[in-house]
Amino acid sequence: MLYTESKEKSAELLRAVLALMNQHSAAFNPVTYAVCYEYVAGINGRLNQAFDHFTRTEARLSDNTMVRLYREHIAGIDDKTMERISGDMQRVMTGMSESAARTGNEAGDFTQHLAGLSQALQSSDTERLGLHLGQALQQTEAMRSSAAALQAQVAASQREIEQLRTDLQRAREDVFVDALTRVLNRKGLDHKMGQLLRTPPNAGTQHALVMLDIDHFKAINDGHGHLMGDRVLSALGELLRLSVGEAGSTVARYGGEEFAILLPHATPALAKEVAERVRLRTKALKIRHKQTNEVVLTLTLSAGVATQQQGEDATAWIARADKALYQAKESGRDRVSLAA
Ligand code: GH3
Ligand code: MG
Ligand code: MG
Repeated sequence: MLYTESKEKSAELLRAVLALMNQHSAAFNPVTYAVCYEYVAGINGRLNQAFDHFTRTEARLSDNTMVRLYREHIAGIDDKTMERISGDMQRVMTGMSESAARTGNEAGDFTQHLAGLSQALQSSDTERLGLHLGQALQQTEAMRSSAAALQAQVAASQREIEQLRTDLQRAREDVFVDALTRVLNRKGLDHKMGQLLRTPPNAGTQHALVMLDIDHFKAINDGHGHLMGDRVLSALGELLRLSVGEAGSTVARYGGEEFAILLPHATPALAKEVAERVRLRTKALKIRHKQTNEVVLTLTLSAGVATQQQGEDATAWIARADKALYQAKESGRDRVSLAA
């Protein structure tokens, strides 16, 4: 799930989250924070239901409960969850169709009684008329209550479907997000690129692609270990998310230590400016020791920029940006190169 709350909004939430965390016995760690954040923001209905459910039996939620809430309602949606969502959807549909069928049956009986009543009216047989009138009254009552039940069922189903839609949306988003860096993954990039290629650029603009690759990343892994390498990737993911704010822009992890930025309706100059901004901020980024806060390492990256040429497909466009990236590497790294 991508958090879309603005900095101001999340600052407002922060206070409420801290107050909520304070009410529970779980430690003040990122898991508790994520659970309380989504709860307070009200962006995850099922989490809120489960959270409320737990607080009924456990006034102060423990670490175990927080972890459970996180696993079941925040961590990436897996096949089992998808199965549950589609199972829930089926159950809602079955409930609705059963209610509708019941109302349909009542309506069928009612029609029959009305026909009988109309015949009795014609025959002016008062005894028969009385009988039919009584039956029609009973039937009307039955119809009224089953219509009311159907209405209630429809309202309840609508609420459930709305919830399921949010769950599905969340599952869909997670499929496109890279777990380590929290930017889009390759699949997400392909999807966005496909959409962009179907959107003609506004007059005087071109869609732009920036390919970025960390310089000598292998040396970071070799010198500081793979876990530190992962921390660098995650920090770069965050830096990119915070640094690229252009309207409609996309940041993605293309693979390994290579990232991509898509800028719709841009110009070569704007794309270069964004690439330079990211390059300079990356150069200024300091990865610190978690305990001592001492700067452990710094890094640089190289970038290749290509604006989409008319009629060019995704493969050719990426290849040109990649070639520009290669030139940036060849001419000394820590620089931005524009595609021919
Ligand atoms: P260059 O400046 O030419 O780009 O050199 P480089 O060392 O960055 O490039 P190279 O392709 O030789 O090495 C990339 C390394 O990135 C190799 C691979 O093990 C590492 N890598 C890829 N994915 C991950 C990951 O998810 N985590 C970590 N820690 N390392 C990764
Ligand atoms: Mg590299
Ligand atoms: Mg690479």
